[in-house]
Amino acid sequence: MSSGRIQIAALLFILLSVAVPISSAGANIDAVRYIIDLDISQNNTAVGRVEIIFNATDAKGLTFLLDNNLSVQTLRLGRESLIFQRFGDTVDVEFKRPVHGTNNLVVEYTGFLDESVDSHSWANLDSDGGFAVYEANWYPNIPGDRATAEIHIKTQPGWTTISNGVLIESNPEKGRFSWFVDTPEIGFSFASGRYREQQDYEKHIPVSCYLQSVQPNCAETLRKSVSFFSRRFGDYSYPKMALVEVGGGLKGGHGDNSLVIMSSDILSSPKFTEFLAHEAAHSWFGGMITANDSKWLTEGFATYAGVMYLENLDSSLARDALGTKRKEYLKVKSTGRDKAILSAKGEYDDVFHATVYSKGALVLHMLRSVVGEETFSQILRDYVEGYRGGSASVADFQALSENVSGMELEWFFDQWLRSTVVPDYYFETAETEFDGSVYTVQAVVGESSTADFKMPVDIIFVTDKGNTSKRVWIDSGAAEVEFQSTSRPVYLEIDREGWILESRRSNNRRVLRYPLSFFGLRLLISNLARSLQPGF
Ligand SMILES: [Zn+2]
Repeated sequence: MSSGRIQIAALLFILLSVAVPISSAGANIDAVRYIIDLDISQNNTAVGRVEIIFNATDAKGLTFLLDNNLSVQTLRLGRESLIFQRFGDTVDVEFKRPVHGTNNLVVEYTGFLDESVDSHSWANLDSDGGFAVYEANWYPNIPGDRATAEIHIKTQPGWTTISNGVLIESNPEKGRFSWFVDTPEIGFSFASGRYREQQDYEKHIPVSCYLQSVQPNCAETLRKSVSFFSRRFGDYSYPKMALVEVGGGLKGGHGDNSLVIMSSDILSSPKFTEFLAHEAAHSWFGGMITANDSKWLTEGFATYAGVMYLENLDSSLARDALGTKRKEYLKVKSTGRDKAILSAKGEYDDVFHATVYSKGALVLHMLRSVVGEETFSQILRDYVEGYRGGSASVADFQALSENVSGMELEWFFDQWLRSTVVPDYYFETAETEFDGSVYTVQAVVGESSTADFKMPVDIIFVTDKGNTSKRVWIDSGAAEVEFQSTSRPVYLEIDREGWILESRRSNNRRVLRYPLSFFGLRLLISNLARSLQPGF
């Protein structure tokens, strides 16, 4: 497999967040449970029957999403047929009279499971298997509304189907599988095909990989990521975790509650571990907590969770991953197409990925630097505990970060989420003096972006015997920093650890002149001058 292919896959891995509610028609509708029956036993054609159980308060209609490759055959409320209007994936249903209490909407539909976004397949069905992620709208769903589900899928004999939640019925001979999801979720995905199962356990929770190719470390890596995230973010809420390998043009991965779907090329790529961790983290960021207003809360967080998992294995892996994300973002920025994270919406393209995923992860890395290690960990745990089972907005996360840290952080979120400005720090001056026993280094650190950029910046002072570090706050101007040492100064460096997303790092180091050399040079010059001037 070419590395180019892997890079493209790495750049554009498609993942999920919440569907954005598209209509107010369902505002007084609350979906309670989906009973999904999907028959994909006939090649290429899906036949579905879905019962949406919902509570209504004086509802005159509702809106659901269904992929436009799937046509509605019948639509009934109880026993009464209803009329509807379709606009692409959006189906507006009109009730004959205002509806109250608990009701059942039954939708029968048929068509192709075939949906692509930015050349990545989100739903596919062929003779080898089939899959659909919930954003492909493979079943009628009321967007943005959490509900439980029964998912019954009928396939060709010999296929196994894996979905969210817990396995209730398994009949491979008849190709019949049922999965129940008893936590209210924003959406449901599935994959079917011929698989070998690799199983492990995280405490009592089964963790399985359903594979077509060879990936001996899959279940172990999946278990370790669930274990790590449980420690760092809070308990895992689901009855199992599964990863399913798929072909069919996914070219990446997809994670939602308790289910990861991953394409074969990723399973065999060097990016496998980070990909897997990212997708597994979506059970927390995307599953347990959905995002109200920005995919940064799901994709940026899952991307940084992937980096945290790598860091737990080997800090150099995390450093490399962060470096790759910085390059990816700056490359898009250099074309002038970058957007502020909170302005990036819509299509999954290279700009969206570089902005929301990669810069999004770097923003969390910087927040960690600003508030400190322990506070950052506490913020993530409090966030998951506070919003588990619900949804959060960026303002919620900011307020929580401010509460936990005791810091006012509006400037941080404004700079990094609502602006495209990236700072560039450099040494305006750096002078060294030596009094015969102690070296004193005084430097002025400037920032050359036009905005009044504020960040804490670590300056490291390296001598021939070791180094020391000081943190200075640079806020709309330059900052002075002073070091003293009895060892000989070698150089100063800005942000050696690479916390800050800077536009340029080539100017971060300043070699310090040795005062002895300077004095020696002055002595040499004065001797030379004396010898050239006979008057003296
Ligand atoms: Zn993702």
